Amino acid sequence: MKNIYRWLLSTTILLLLFACTTDEQEGSNRDPADATTTVDLIVLGDYVVSMDEAGSVYQNGAVAIDDGLILAIGSAADILAEYSATKMLGGEHRIVMPGLINGHSHAAMTLLRGVADDLALMDWLNNYIFPAEVEFVDPEFVRIGTELACWEMIRGGTTTFVDMYYYPDTIAEVVESCGMRAMISATVIDQRSPDAENADDSIEKGNGFIERWQGRNDRIVPIFGPHANYTLNKEKLAATRAAAMKFGVPISIHLSESPFEVQYSKDTYGTTSINMLESIGFFDGPTIAAHVVWPMQEEIPILVERKVGVIHNPTSNMKIASGIAPITEMLAAGVRVGIGTDGAASNNDLDLWEEMRLASLLQKVDRMDPEALSATTVLTMATRGGATAIGLGDSIGSLEVGKKADLIQVVFDDVHHVPTYDVVSHLVWVTDEQDVATVVVDGQVLMEDNEMLTIETDRVAVEATALAARIQAALKQRNQSP
Ligand SMILES: [Zn+2]
Repeated sequence: MKNIYRWLLSTTILLLLFACTTDEQEGSNRDPADATTTVDLIVLGDYVVSMDEAGSVYQNGAVAIDDGLILAIGSAADILAEYSATKMLGGEHRIVMPGLINGHSHAAMTLLRGVADDLALMDWLNNYIFPAEVEFVDPEFVRIGTELACWEMIRGGTTTFVDMYYYPDTIAEVVESCGMRAMISATVIDQRSPDAENADDSIEKGNGFIERWQGRNDRIVPIFGPHANYTLNKEKLAATRAAAMKFGVPISIHLSESPFEVQYSKDTYGTTSINMLESIGFFDGPTIAAHVVWPMQEEIPILVERKVGVIHNPTSNMKIASGIAPITEMLAAGVRVGIGTDGAASNNDLDLWEEMRLASLLQKVDRMDPEALSATTVLTMATRGGATAIGLGDSIGSLEVGKKADLIQVVFDDVHHVPTYDVVSHLVWVTDEQDVATVVVDGQVLMEDNEMLTIETDRVAVEATALAARIQAALKQRNQSP
């Protein structure tokens, strides 16, 4: 009923505007009947928070979208005077803003959510995650786990994610079908993994993946994901960079994540991680570096100069007790910083609203400075700043004319949003995943009024539950055997 009411309201507004319009405007999409340009979609909001450089917020605003791109943004009155649309998304009690960008994830690990908690990184990886993955991860696992992750991310307002996991073709197929935007890494690791025997094998398989997906779908960027400098030696790290350079694609890597890694680097390479990678020319191409909790003071300028995108994962860093990343220092130095969830096995969800809050709180208490990492700063990290960090700053991350139409509507009339003095404050300090009502990627509506349109949620829930039961039974049997 609400939708019918909104449709009637918007139709009435359009008719009134037609009645008031006297000038005859020309245009390729002009409808002579109402003198407005017809576009694919108009999204309205009580507030449109553009996240552009100027921090423009339009009260009673609207965004006109055509052919997957933002054609115009401004007050609803101005937009509706100029454009009519095949589809309108009403904006009462809604905030329109750019979709969130998850700069580091292992999407299919949703299926390992809660399988091993309260452990240190190396114990968690070597004794639980890697063995469980070798045993259970196959294309079917990746398909179901990635669908589950995309469902959660869309529901929570994430429109783009940078993934690193196995069977990347399967990840890409899921992303292609659910309508999200993603950079998908072919994981490179020098040990037996679910989809390769060693580093050389994973690089070779990665080459095939990039060849199949480069230029195939505008929403999908295939990249390389060398796991870390403790799972790959210098030679294999350099070989992965060379492969990425051959295709002109970025690299995503775990970097300077834990005290273990820092010590390992010193013992093995005689220097810390960032210095070592710089010495082998690893940063010669675009790099998305997850974590960066323990950069040395002198390594931060390298990150700036080499335009390395740093992705902060506060929940994972806290849960595994990796440490507190010096985000304030890195931002002040000019490092490009985005935000991510990491995998659901170390988070245990994919909620970027929670990550924003934790990122801000962690810096404030670490520095004993309440002004550290303001709401605007963390919201920027999750949108425009994150887009820049992953190398997509020209096309996504803010609502500006010519950018891709990746945006969301947040409902803010629930009791926990009342009253509203400052929308940016509310978006960071109050909003939850469940407050996101509508998600649009590339101009396509993926969720409308909380209804998922591109993922069969009932089927995914049944499949994920069944697969988790098999994993649990097998783990139980393994733990009982001598
Ligand atoms: Zn990770």
